[in-house]
Amino acid sequence: MKYETVIGLEIHVQLNTRSKLFCSDPVLFGAPPNTQVSPVSLAHPGTLPYLNRTAVEYAVRLGLALGSTIDRASRFDRKNYFYPDLPKGYQITQERRPICVGGQVLIGCRTIRIHHIHLEEDAGKSIHDQHPIESWIDLNRAGVPLLEIVTEPDLRSAEETALFMEEIRRLVRWIGISDGNMEEGSLRCDVNISLRPEGSTTYGERCELKNMNSMRFAKKAIQFEQDRQLQLLKKGETIPRQTRGFDQESGQTYAQRDKEEAHDYRYFPEPDLPPVLISEEWFRQIQTSLPILPRNYQTHFEEDLGMTPQEAQLLCQERRTTEWVKQASTQLPAPLFKWFTQLIIQKILPWCAENGQSPETLPVPLSSWRQVLELIQSEQISASAAYQKLVPAVLASPQRSPEELAKQLELLHEADEAWLATIIDEVLQRFPEKVKEYQKGKKNLIGLFMGEIMRISKGKAEPKSTQQLLQKKLLQEK
Ligand code: ADP
Ligand code: MG
Repeated sequence: MKYETVIGLEIHVQLNTRSKLFCSDPVLFGAPPNTQVSPVSLAHPGTLPYLNRTAVEYAVRLGLALGSTIDRASRFDRKNYFYPDLPKGYQITQERRPICVGGQVLIGCRTIRIHHIHLEEDAGKSIHDQHPIESWIDLNRAGVPLLEIVTEPDLRSAEETALFMEEIRRLVRWIGISDGNMEEGSLRCDVNISLRPEGSTTYGERCELKNMNSMRFAKKAIQFEQDRQLQLLKKGETIPRQTRGFDQESGQTYAQRDKEEAHDYRYFPEPDLPPVLISEEWFRQIQTSLPILPRNYQTHFEEDLGMTPQEAQLLCQERRTTEWVKQASTQLPAPLFKWFTQLIIQKILPWCAENGQSPETLPVPLSSWRQVLELIQSEQISASAAYQKLVPAVLASPQRSPEELAKQLELLHEADEAWLATIIDEVLQRFPEKVKEYQKGKKNLIGLFMGEIMRISKGKAEPKSTQQLLQKKLLQEK
């Protein structure tokens, strides 16, 4: 029997607000342990939560970007459990009335449905690897705002899951609510995974893989888990519903605990917080402040600017870069812009990636890139010389004019007739036999002569005038 993998994700997005969800402690990654805390995040008796307005706005932004319905009166609930890094003994989250309901993400031609998105606070961090017998607690993270995105079980493979996470990462960065950094834990996901016979319309029993903080490991964990479940099913065994961890060293998943049920958490309405009311006016404000989304730019780039889907995809990763590309498209004539996209993809983006920079903040003005492209267009410089020598020079000396740089590096084509004539004569004298063959009709020998001329002139001979002069001389030659 063939089996199909079914995956649903619970993704935690850490919001980049300045302060925590229910108090004014700063949100700072990498601060010394237990320095970003206050009586509220330490759960001292008598303290009360006070909701961060920006976090609500960010939730609405994400909901709008994913096509969710926004609940204008969502609520908070308490999720009760004991853990040393949770000083209150409960997490404030949204169980019955999450702020965003529904929505979808497109992965190629597949639609992955969002079940809901809710706001909640993060717990602190338990550190087990700093001391042989002690566990340490850092409460800097306690109370940091999170959005949890819960998908429907619509994903079907590790690859699709990775693409989905990439899309979420791009989107949260794009709309400015999170840095989406998986390594630093700003984007984490729990992977629910089950198998079912191909063609079946019901779902199988699932396991939950906890806290994947890199896509590389998440993919490995999914592949391992897929296989583990398949072996069990083939033996006729059932899959126990479990929460499992992933061991990066062995590449295996291992059972952590049997899956808890919602009632284990004794959810109840948070009595210290009123419903989150979103007025029509505020809602409109958030709506109008939302930037044009990456997929809309992608469509525009493909349909109106003639890019291939791959080109459009590459140029729609970071919002400011995309906006810069879009602006260039309105300032450059169409043929130049086409070359410009090539220049960005082949030279500028790789250079930026290597140097930790971003194209739109480089000190190279668009007028300089335009000059490079015009030098190529007017055949004053060969495309290869421009790409290999001039562009790196422009990047290294952004204040100087590309034409000046090209001159200094002796990259510009030379069409001076006397200079060309000496080189051509030199070549023709070196190949008297070939000249005779050419004169007898072997016209494709022109390529050989041109190649030699280019070699001797180090690519500087202007091709058109050179060829004309060469042909003239070949006919004169005895
Ligand atoms: P829980 O009560 O465990 O939180 P939910 O119904 O809220 O379960 O679902 C949590 C996540 O598990 C969702 O992302 C959902 O898509 C996914 N999920 C549910 N059933 C399955 C299944 N059979 N296989 C894989 N994923 C599933
Ligand atoms: Mg759930």
